[in-house]
Amino acid sequence: MSINDYVDTLESAARHALAKTGAIEACSRHSDVIIRVGDPDAERHAYALATTLLKSDGTMWMREDVMSAIKDELDMAADGECPQCAYLRDS
Ligand SMILES: [Zn+2]
Repeated sequence: MSINDYVDTLESAARHALAKTGAIEACSRHSDVIIRVGDPDAERHAYALATTLLKSDGTMWMREDVMSAIKDELDMAADGECPQCAYLRDS
């Protein structure tokens, strides 16, 4: 699988970059749950990486578009821990 498979959309580039830098991760028990690790450095790196990925794809994206795609992915992620695991643990 080539890297370009990940970057056919802005969203996938953002998600791939965030996962690659460790800013988000999938829950080890719930693979459909994405967790925001909360590492500002990783999130900054992810933005730079997403920009690079998108550039290598030959598409020119606006900085704001990349920023907002990264932000959207982080907003959609669970904060700090998997809510399903937290629910199971607390119940
Ligand atoms: Zn979980």
